[in-house]
Amino acid sequence: MSIRTAIVGYGNLGRGVENSIRHQPDMELVGIFSRRTELDTDTPVYPVADIDSYADQIDVLYLCLGSATDIPAQAAAFARTFTTVDTYDNHAKIPAHYMEMDEAAASGDNIAVVATGWDPGLFSLNRTIASSLFPTYQQNTFWGKGVSQGHSDALRRIDGVRRAVQYTIPREDAISAAREGNGHDVTGHTAHLRQCWIVADESEHDRIRDEIITMPDYFVGYEVEVHFITDDEFARDHQGLPHGGHVITSGELGESRATVEFSLTLDSNPDFTAAVQVAYGRAAHRLRESGLSGAFSVLEIPPYLLAPEPLEELLARDV
Ligand code: NDP
Repeated sequence: MSIRTAIVGYGNLGRGVENSIRHQPDMELVGIFSRRTELDTDTPVYPVADIDSYADQIDVLYLCLGSATDIPAQAAAFARTFTTVDTYDNHAKIPAHYMEMDEAAASGDNIAVVATGWDPGLFSLNRTIASSLFPTYQQNTFWGKGVSQGHSDALRRIDGVRRAVQYTIPREDAISAAREGNGHDVTGHTAHLRQCWIVADESEHDRIRDEIITMPDYFVGYEVEVHFITDDEFARDHQGLPHGGHVITSGELGESRATVEFSLTLDSNPDFTAAVQVAYGRAAHRLRESGLSGAFSVLEIPPYLLAPEPLEELLARDV
């Protein structure tokens, strides 16, 4: 019998999860629950206020809400009634979120898989695996090339900026230093270039460039590139939400050194985050079916539970 899934929240991530579920051999999508009544989709849409009445029709609920305010305010209530999977990405608050979801999921006999996606998520797994291999090690995480939503918003708030996007790009010399085990001095500021693509009137270019490179917190202290382009160029070249990055761990093993690297290159951050979230939904369902309850992080879930294929097939194919 296929896994009956549903989505709460229909933004970039919700659309990615909807699309990913269509390609799963063992899942069906019961519906999307939203605070809005009109969504541009063929999937049935229901008011999120009514969600509890669908409890016996849904095996796994994908929480595709925002991390800033939605997840802290709402996730635990969903976990009391449903087995959930989220992509909560506020790293400093993940331990507290885990504890809250553990209590809520356990009280409803459900599973709550927290903080899936790629960072947190697959990057977290790789940080733990790689750091476990060395008595002493140097570990660096690089992000990008990717769109920074916060920095793009900051550019758009500058007077005269009509359209803007900011890509965070890791510096090749910083990545090389990390690969050689010399990443101790690599900081966020020295490791990343901030590349800005702006549409604005030509008479404003000098002032806008000046405001960008002197903007505290966002741009001061970074290597910054500012490029002015036309509306057509912006529409042609800067519509996606690419992202990616590297986790690089280097350490000594007695007489030798080893470097472990995990890299991602993503055309679409939300599509990939959705793919990871959907796979962890399969694991969540299997954990629930095995009689377990409570919160699980990606560190606690055996990889074979993510795959649609049975373990015997994976042993022959992948091990
Ligand atoms: P969005 O801003 O696109 O969507 C968030 C919520 O806002 C939706 O659930 C939706 O709720 C509401 N919403 C979306 N579009 C509109 C609209 N046009 N008008 C009104 N409300 C709208 O966020 P994303 O989907 O891009 O990202 C969700 C979260 O995913 C992020 O907060 C981030 O923390 C996390 N994330 C995690 C990653 C990881 O690796 N762990 C990587 C990338 C993202 P509703 O339908 O109820 O209105």
